Amino acid sequence: MTKPNTLLALNWKMNKTPTEAAAWATELKGQLPSSAATLAIMAPAIDLPALQTALAGSPVQYGAQDISANPSGAYTGEISAAMLLDVNAKYAVVGHSERREYHAETSQVVASKARAAMSTGLVPIICVGEGLEVRERGEHVAYTLDQLRESLAGITVASAEQIVIAYEPVWAIGTGKTATAADAEELCAAIRGALSGLLGEVGADVQVLYGGSVKGGNIAEICGQPNVNGALVGGAALEVGSVLEMVNAL
Ligand code: PGA
Repeated sequence: MTKPNTLLALNWKMNKTPTEAAAWATELKGQLPSSAATLAIMAPAIDLPALQTALAGSPVQYGAQDISANPSGAYTGEISAAMLLDVNAKYAVVGHSERREYHAETSQVVASKARAAMSTGLVPIICVGEGLEVRERGEHVAYTLDQLRESLAGITVASAEQIVIAYEPVWAIGTGKTATAADAEELCAAIRGALSGLLGEVGADVQVLYGGSVKGGNIAEICGQPNVNGALVGGAALEVGSVLEMVNAL
């Protein structure tokens, strides 16, 4: 049975044209069973208006995969929180490991993007997680909590719904190497513990997701862990069939 307060966030990465996104969302809408989990599509920004139209009247939410730290102005190529709100986006992923690695985003930059999202009421999905070398040294908990602390700099929350954290060990992303449910729980529990210290009492109620090679066959065990409130999914988020498999397994 799906736990209350479960979020299944689909990270399409750089896949699907607006035409493909609209067709995908229409197909999904026609087959989606009612579920206690919230389903949200993190799409390329150019797909969002197509999703707004295709998902009208459905409970499926959507958001962006990145956001500018700045509100407006001379920032060529960037997309602001106000632009995302204008197409009714609810979420913005910040600090995904691919942004940290390929775009040299530091946790300081991630924190400023999260603050920009929150300043307009968008919910940032803040990603943290260690690489393989850190894991092999056994320093994954300390490393991830440091990254969390830095990525939350300057952030205050009045309610737990204002932010989401995603624990994504880099070695498990797109590799087929899923962390075990126990690995996911270890870090999600550590993150939850740290959130109370960082954000005050409501911190303990923030949704903490696991991401990294989640699919229909493993989502129930991972999301069934006491401190895991859902998943951020890449590869298995691209086909309607595999998304339905995950929704049904939850
Ligand atoms: P994956 O990606 O499910 O393909 O491992 C997860 C992510 O990058 O968010």
